[in-house]
Amino acid sequence: MENDNKAKQKAMDLAEDARQTEWKFPSFTAELFRGAFRWDLMHPYPVQDPEDKKIGDEYLDKLRGVLKNHCDPIKIDKTGVYPKETLRALAEAGAFGMKIPKEYGGLGLSQTNYSRALSLIGSYCQSTVTWVSAHQSIGVPQPLKMYGTKEQKQKYLPRLAKGDISAFALTEPDVGSDPAKMSTTATPSEDGSYYLLNGDKLWCTNGPDADVLVVMAKTPPVVVNGKERTQITAFIVEKEMPGFEIVQRCSFMGLKGLSNGLLRFTNVRVPKENVIGKPGEGLRIALATLNTGRLGIPAASTACGKLSLQYAEKWVNERVQWGVPIGKHQAIAKKIANMAADTFAMDAIVWIACAFADKENADIRLEAAIAKYFCTETAWRLLDDYLQVSGGRGYETAESLAIRGDDPVPVERMLRDSRVARIFEGSSEIMHLIIAREALDTHFKLVMPIMMPPKGAKESKFSLIKKAAAFYLTWYPKQWLPSGQSFNVKHLSTTNQDHLAYVDRTCRKMARTIFHQMAKLQKKMEYEQILLGNFVDIGVDLFAMSACLAYAESFLAKDSANQGPQELADLFCKNARVRIGENFRRVKDNHNKTFNKVAKSLMEGKYRWLLTDIYQDFPEGYAPGDYVPADHENAAVK
Ligand SMILES: Cc1cc2nc3c(=O)[nH]c(=O)nc-3n(C[C@H](O)[C@H](O)[C@H](O)COP(=O)(O)OP(=O)(O)OC[C@H]3O[C@@H](n4cnc5c(N)ncnc54)[C@H](O)[C@@H]3O)c2cc1C
Repeated sequence: MENDNKAKQKAMDLAEDARQTEWKFPSFTAELFRGAFRWDLMHPYPVQDPEDKKIGDEYLDKLRGVLKNHCDPIKIDKTGVYPKETLRALAEAGAFGMKIPKEYGGLGLSQTNYSRALSLIGSYCQSTVTWVSAHQSIGVPQPLKMYGTKEQKQKYLPRLAKGDISAFALTEPDVGSDPAKMSTTATPSEDGSYYLLNGDKLWCTNGPDADVLVVMAKTPPVVVNGKERTQITAFIVEKEMPGFEIVQRCSFMGLKGLSNGLLRFTNVRVPKENVIGKPGEGLRIALATLNTGRLGIPAASTACGKLSLQYAEKWVNERVQWGVPIGKHQAIAKKIANMAADTFAMDAIVWIACAFADKENADIRLEAAIAKYFCTETAWRLLDDYLQVSGGRGYETAESLAIRGDDPVPVERMLRDSRVARIFEGSSEIMHLIIAREALDTHFKLVMPIMMPPKGAKESKFSLIKKAAAFYLTWYPKQWLPSGQSFNVKHLSTTNQDHLAYVDRTCRKMARTIFHQMAKLQKKMEYEQILLGNFVDIGVDLFAMSACLAYAESFLAKDSANQGPQELADLFCKNARVRIGENFRRVKDNHNKTFNKVAKSLMEGKYRWLLTDIYQDFPEGYAPGDYVPADHENAAVK
């Protein structure tokens, strides 16, 4: 147990060191968790610059043509083969260089236009969006843009913009969510001119067909303040480097056209010039890459939500049961109304997060994590709701529907394809942890050094207590007082203005409740994941409400006759207020200890008596080789 805690602490220390802390533009959500509703950061809702919008519109038209003429999502799903011809057409249209600056031969799109492109591609073929996104949201271009040297950029970015494929290799068979514990090593040569890379990387998207990969590996530890610090370093690895091997191509429940596999590095000699950033900065680089990188997924998820809504609108009108269109039965009406309101919320969140990301050095860690968490979870629920309102047809494949002449709605494929979005690039549970960590930042910084003084700390406990007391003496009373803030909204209805005032007062209630719980639980608070989850979900809903209200106001400012945004914002906010109320209740009145108790018993095998009348083993004859996936024959585009 003691060893468990030490290992946990070590991993957390490393993740902590890797957090970026310097920002020019503050985070709306971080302020919210501190009890400050910074409406000024969200309103007026950022409108895309007309020049930038024109660039995006033209590019999306081009992409539409490429998808229509060169990409067949049904065939890709059926065969599991991603055609070289499609990759070539995408590369020729610049789809692999969307995020690469123009000076290096890319399109230099803004985050907003890039996400618009991913939304379009994701609504058409999710295997395709994964190729394109893994290449540049997290693959080599992103860390090179942020941390690469001029030489590295000149050497790699033009190739990658033209269609050389890249990949991001962090996960290993034994480490996923906790990459700090990785076992891949990079041992420096005696003269320091190269490193020898050894280890396995699992589920690397694009990996089996990548020309260039960014690989994270452990380099020798260094001693800081008397404490040994694990060093993780980011390397550019080329597929031609001897010792690089594709061990397995993996196949999945969805995303059948994905190129993904288990990669092995055996004494791969990587020149020191291929280190991205400085040695030891690898985890920071990986986390920073994922911060903006994970904005691509919510754009594609929102697109799936929009498609579900479009299909639902048609179906609930067409399908008549018990003499009326099914959309008129209240149980279905509630589902489709929520689908519309939730789609509006996803849209509001994605585009504001992209607008924040387009600002220089803006702190978007929380907004990106919220966008990823909210949109992937919500899109999944929407797809499931659409499947439910479709009845039996929702469970049928698009090809089978087409044979009878029914609309070939691919919801079955979309569900299979989109499930993994809640897992990769940081699972929903990890998004919760990231949001919780940032939410508690103020208190952590002030209180933790008092409770757990770091080794070699220079400041005395007394001075730390004085500092914390000075902060809390002014901060805490403010959390009980009205903010006195007035909101310059001209078009929102009184109901929506009331929602705005609710966000304003509730963020202070959230901040003081967090403070009370911290005071009560102290160091134990960081292990209370269910409780922290309640706070995270309150914060996420307050952020989403704010985004919806600002988004609605921006639509109304353009066209006050269209009351749609008003209605959708109102429904979303009403639902969110119910969830927030429930989350506050659960902070005080919960059965979290019972969850712990039952989970512990399960882990100890105490419920095996329940497992009767089931087939206990894998079916006879299950052996590797019987289930070899189709050979993708994917090759990099030249
Ligand atoms: C199709 C696909 C594509 C992928 N592409 C890439 C890629 O290109 N590059 C790459 O490096 N990786 C890639 N991955 C790996 C992916 O990022 C990991 O699967 C993900 O990070 C989760 O890691 P894991 O699967 O090892 O799960 P684990 O980390 O073992 O987690 C298992 C479960 O425990 C939960 N959990 C873990 N830790 C905690 C905690 N502290 N608190 C609460 N809950 C916790 C998780 O949320 C999850 O539900 C891909 C995976 C898939 C399936």
